[in-house]
Amino acid sequence: MPGPTIQFLGGVREIGGNKILIEDGPDRILFDFGPSFDHRYEEFYLDYLKPRSTSPVRDLLEFDLLPWRSGLYSRDALGGLEERYTAPSIHGIFLSHAHFDHAGYLEYIDPEIPVYLGAGTRTILQAIEASTPTRYGDHPWRTFDGGESIRIGHLEVVPMPVDHSVPHAFGFLVRTREGTIVYTGDFRQHGPRAGRTREFLEAARAEAPAALLIEGTRAGPDPRRNFTEEGVRAGVDRLLATHPGLVLAACYPRDVDRLTTLYRAAADSGRDLIVPFKTAHLLAALAGDPTLDAPVPGRDPNLKVYRRPKKVYYRWERPFLDASVDASWIRSHGRESLLLMDTNQLTELIDLRPPAGTPFVRSMSEPFSEEDLTDRVLRNWIGHFGLGLEQYHASGHCSGPELAEILAAMDPDLVYPIHTEHPEAFDGKARRVVAPERGTVYPLRGLRGPA
Ligand SMILES: [Zn+2]
Repeated sequence: MPGPTIQFLGGVREIGGNKILIEDGPDRILFDFGPSFDHRYEEFYLDYLKPRSTSPVRDLLEFDLLPWRSGLYSRDALGGLEERYTAPSIHGIFLSHAHFDHAGYLEYIDPEIPVYLGAGTRTILQAIEASTPTRYGDHPWRTFDGGESIRIGHLEVVPMPVDHSVPHAFGFLVRTREGTIVYTGDFRQHGPRAGRTREFLEAARAEAPAALLIEGTRAGPDPRRNFTEEGVRAGVDRLLATHPGLVLAACYPRDVDRLTTLYRAAADSGRDLIVPFKTAHLLAALAGDPTLDAPVPGRDPNLKVYRRPKKVYYRWERPFLDASVDASWIRSHGRESLLLMDTNQLTELIDLRPPAGTPFVRSMSEPFSEEDLTDRVLRNWIGHFGLGLEQYHASGHCSGPELAEILAAMDPDLVYPIHTEHPEAFDGKARRVVAPERGTVYPLRGLRGPA
């Protein structure tokens, strides 16, 4: 029987797009299945020029924007390539967390292939499906809480919670017949659940892993300023204390830690945090989650919902209408408000007419390049209204020096840097570092170095 192998079908020299195939004899599982954030996609598709909904996989394969595997895609998604359809030959897909670049292509997967994911991740995906056009497809959803062992033939997978900028993120210990492969998913150790990351890294070290698949989003040159979550809180506290009027903020829509930080800062300064419908819907879906301390619409007194003008409100928006406020209310209650903006709804500024000098807290990562389109547009809006841009963000990822410390402590036989544009930044940080190539099959056998 052939020995265990690892194959990287995405996440190679790019941030996002992780698709990792681990095989052991006849047993085959995938970790994550999302689109890349790289610019290759935008060389062929842009705005309304999209893969056709009747043949998305065919239209992405045409430009090598998806890997080809038989027994992976659904007959529907293959539209036009149905003759290449074969019964599933992948025995499960493990999802590390709910971010789009890890989960966004699940919709194309054969509906018979089970998807293993955190119970909380499932809740978040359901909230996204209910409040956006994103779809993840129909699958047997197998949820885990973390710490349990999931057996797939010869493979044993242990999901372990880690801290990241979306709740319910997991790393994995994957035990094969010839050693353990550790996959970090996306993780950080400076967030509110840093203890979880430490437990995962300690468990990984105890496995004496044959291979470590580690994300390196912030490896390499990274001039961007990073705060801890407490640092973000302190910065926002200062702004709220020194600006007696309205304060605006923007963060990633599923960054529940940041929403919680902003809520506490608002409440402790006698303000309300006012959030878009989508945020309210997510917070309501996560109400009662014992691992979170997030505000809940209708329960927490300093949380309000921003009602933007619409002819018809969606069904999922309607429960929040009664307790909502509109632009004219905010214009007269600026000093009692911290308004969270949806960056796709900056048009609300035209109604809000914030006074010049109103702070706009960008609580998300600074752009990688000057050409970042959304940043250019955001800056244009901020300039047009004379707002004051303030940057306070705690990243969802470890810094380069932290990654080096982790490698030194874990001392794996072999490291594959993934989810990074700078795999070379790992050179010399472990006994053996291999920058993986997309599609190459890496056998685990014989890779162990001298003890
Ligand atoms: Zn992520």
